[in-house]
Amino acid sequence: MNETLLSISDLRVYFHSVRGEYKVVDGVNLTVNRNEILGLAGESGCGKSTVIEAVMRLIRPPGYIQAGEIMFRPEGEPAVDLLELDERSLEQIRWKYISYVPQASMNSLNPIMRIETQIADVMKAHSTLTKPEIHERATQVLDIVGLPARVLDAYPHELSGGMKQRAIIAIAMTLSPQLVIADEPTTALDVNVQRAILEAILNIKEETGTTVLFVSHDLAVHAELVDRLAIMYAGKIVEVDTVYNLFKQQTHPYSQRLFSSIPVLGGSRVRQESILGQAPDRLNWPSGCRFHPRCPFAMDKCSQIEPPLVEIETGHHVACHLAYDVATSEIILPTKEGQHEKPA
Ligand code: SF4
Repeated sequence: MNETLLSISDLRVYFHSVRGEYKVVDGVNLTVNRNEILGLAGESGCGKSTVIEAVMRLIRPPGYIQAGEIMFRPEGEPAVDLLELDERSLEQIRWKYISYVPQASMNSLNPIMRIETQIADVMKAHSTLTKPEIHERATQVLDIVGLPARVLDAYPHELSGGMKQRAIIAIAMTLSPQLVIADEPTTALDVNVQRAILEAILNIKEETGTTVLFVSHDLAVHAELVDRLAIMYAGKIVEVDTVYNLFKQQTHPYSQRLFSSIPVLGGSRVRQESILGQAPDRLNWPSGCRFHPRCPFAMDKCSQIEPPLVEIETGHHVACHLAYDVATSEIILPTKEGQHEKPA
């Protein structure tokens, strides 16, 4: 049975602006199980990074957390709502229990400090390890991410982009956190370097049992790495399932369009399907289902009633009126071809 490490309930993150209130994350529900890699995918601007920043409590004005609960259940310790912690308690959670690899983080290494010094700084601030112990741990974490011990003596400019990114992941692993959150760690890297980063993250899970929440817009990267995948659209989660099942068959029409835009290598030439229309305005989300202006299956009720995220099969959650009838509470499973009968 899966044990929940992190559960996000009805999370809402809004941003004030002169034009109104941007509801960037607007009712997200998501769980991360212990010892899994959970992927979070969706087009740019859907709110993926804002969810992560809320978990890390890094939302700054004009943004604010309007509502929600983020329960973190560290092994052998009582559960805490991360949104209720004061700054001092948060300091104790960050790095030691939850560490974060932000977007474009390879450029955040200090250019005038050797890698060993940068790893040691984290350990000095958050542990009582001695100098030899710090050196030993620094060597270990580099090994976990596939970097040789000589990297400890290097300055960031002596490393390639992929090595810098892996050094950042090594720093995140220094205090053996229970959860590592990585936001687009492979973006803007070539495929060989991407592979090295993915191998480093897989190694982290296999060697240390660390749970990973991995954010990327790149479905191919998710296919290589994650156990389960959550699809986000317009500030909400619209579908969650194992990555294997989702690649085999998607139920939500947005997921179907997203996956059908992946180019297929080989076979006969086919025209790639695109998602109709424009991404919605975050100041004025469409009523009902937010995907209804772009959805080829939209029905009358889609623009009036918001579909809830419902578990339609074990572990498979979908927010769509085609999969769940809110009036009768009836679950409507897709046919073998992956299509739902359009209700009358
Ligand atoms: Fe399409 Fe309606 Fe399902 Fe939304 S609820 S995805 S509009 S069918």
